[in-house]
Amino acid sequence: MGDNVYKSLQNTPNMLEYDSFCSQFSWENEYDNFEGLPGGGINIAHETVDRHANGHLRNIVALRWIQKDSSFKDFTYTDLKVQTSRFANVLEKLGVKKGDTVFSLTGRIPALYFSALGTLKSRAIFCPMFSVFGPEPCFQRLNKGKAKVLVTTKKLYEKKIKSLLNRLPLLQYILLTDVEQDIDKIALSLSKLMGEVSDDYVIKNTKPEDPALLHFTSGTTGMPKGALHVHKAVLTHYVTGKYVLDLHPGDIFWCTADPGWVTGTSYGIIAPLVNGVTNIIDEEEFNAKRWYSILEEHSVNVWYTAPTAIRRLMRIDFNPLEKYDLSRLRVIHSVGEPLQPKEVIWGQNTFKIPICDNWWQTETGGIMISNYVSIKVKPGSMGKPLPGIEAAIGEIEGEKIRLLTKPGEQGHLLLRSGWPSMFRTYLDEEERYQKCFKGEWYITGDLARKDADGYFWFVGRADDIIKTSGHMVGPFEVESALMEHLAVAEAAIIGKPDPIIGELVKAFIVLKPGVEANEQARLDIKGFLRKKLGPAVAPKEIAFIESLPKTKSGKILRRLLKARELGLPEGDTSTLE
Ligand code: AMP
Repeated sequence: MGDNVYKSLQNTPNMLEYDSFCSQFSWENEYDNFEGLPGGGINIAHETVDRHANGHLRNIVALRWIQKDSSFKDFTYTDLKVQTSRFANVLEKLGVKKGDTVFSLTGRIPALYFSALGTLKSRAIFCPMFSVFGPEPCFQRLNKGKAKVLVTTKKLYEKKIKSLLNRLPLLQYILLTDVEQDIDKIALSLSKLMGEVSDDYVIKNTKPEDPALLHFTSGTTGMPKGALHVHKAVLTHYVTGKYVLDLHPGDIFWCTADPGWVTGTSYGIIAPLVNGVTNIIDEEEFNAKRWYSILEEHSVNVWYTAPTAIRRLMRIDFNPLEKYDLSRLRVIHSVGEPLQPKEVIWGQNTFKIPICDNWWQTETGGIMISNYVSIKVKPGSMGKPLPGIEAAIGEIEGEKIRLLTKPGEQGHLLLRSGWPSMFRTYLDEEERYQKCFKGEWYITGDLARKDADGYFWFVGRADDIIKTSGHMVGPFEVESALMEHLAVAEAAIIGKPDPIIGELVKAFIVLKPGVEANEQARLDIKGFLRKKLGPAVAPKEIAFIESLPKTKSGKILRRLLKARELGLPEGDTSTLE
């Protein structure tokens, strides 16, 4: 795909040439772009909000909140400073101390953003939850995270939280965003409290290593673990906002993720604000026409979304450029799952700019491997490591790592530990945390390969890998091939135990609308795959299903498909969409 895609675009990219930029890059130099606190130290809320509100960006729109009815409200950096300072004062008044945890359970409403940044100002730890969680997943997280305060709405409180209170002795206050008066001694009106405190707040000394954010992740396996991040993580958010998302002064940025998923916090709150641009928040869920209208009406320049959304947009039978003026769109990024070559090519044909895939995870706190506007995009590749990040492929041999350096060799995706937004522990599970590291390497739990040009290619989660007749099969390669068949809308594969070949490859397929799920379709797809992948790797079994089980952030839950197939317990399904 086109070399240096930026040639025709209006802004010069912040990173002009990848290799020379990497050789000069230093985290220390980037750190110097921060102001720091007057008394020393660094605080995310100061760098994202107060610094700008005290400077020349004071009247720039920081948050544009698009409501369900499509009307919108703007909050400047000055407004944001006031609201977050009030929230920090409310916490202080309620006796919340440094290191206590404040949770949220709301939709994407302004109070969520005020409380996230206000909590960081007060040096308490913020943990956002998806508002669609049921009571039990809320309980698990509030309990494990020792929540002291929860910000939520009256309806969510009554429906999901009230019945849990007797099991959550540490939870002292529920701050309701949509009532004028307190309901009782615990459930208080947030607006009333905000009205009673000063809009001035001096952030106290915050050390780079002070905890800031807690994100629960079950990944695609197992029970939720609490990944803890520190204030210094803002350095990764700043650097990736600048060099990956290529944010420029005056940009309008839209990250479609909910803050309940780490992407919606790192990039739906922190990265755009620390780079001083305008951040779009849409209260509503996915809707193709609404999304295109937002891109047009709000002149979005930089858009960060996910493969599930892209696949849904691909199903719409019109060309957006014929109906919408998207000429302001300069950069599109995607994260969360592999972006199939077909999807990258669709993006290029549809938007006339490539969709840049990038890779990271809750534990890394920010983007680690990415395509950039200034490198050639290879469809299907996650791209190259962020400047300042060393990524490698390796084998785990007991307590040691053996690096695999030949191009194309497949192994564990490793990162040299020590980047600013690296998680600092799994809450109360230090042993589990330590197991993620061997020597200087962090083991990501993903398998990948690196080609001769230094691009990384996703193979699969280490725990999703299938061993069939002695072959190691990554779900991604089979699913990519499946997606190339014209009848296939979505697909996932699992390994099913087989007495002869170890595991057999089984595919679950969602067919495109109008395609009939019959024997002919099955034979046709099987034949197509045998030709493409060879008989050893091609799925031996094919099942047609209505939809694939996915997490709320759009990841296919292969382990759930497997558990259902084998009649095993489904395990933690709290993140199931
Ligand atoms: P989470 O912590 O929920 O964001 O999940 C992180 C995991 O999502 C990674 O470890 C990968 O397995 C997967 N993932 C994220 N981005 C990508 C990508 N661009 N390509 C392939 N897999 C991805």
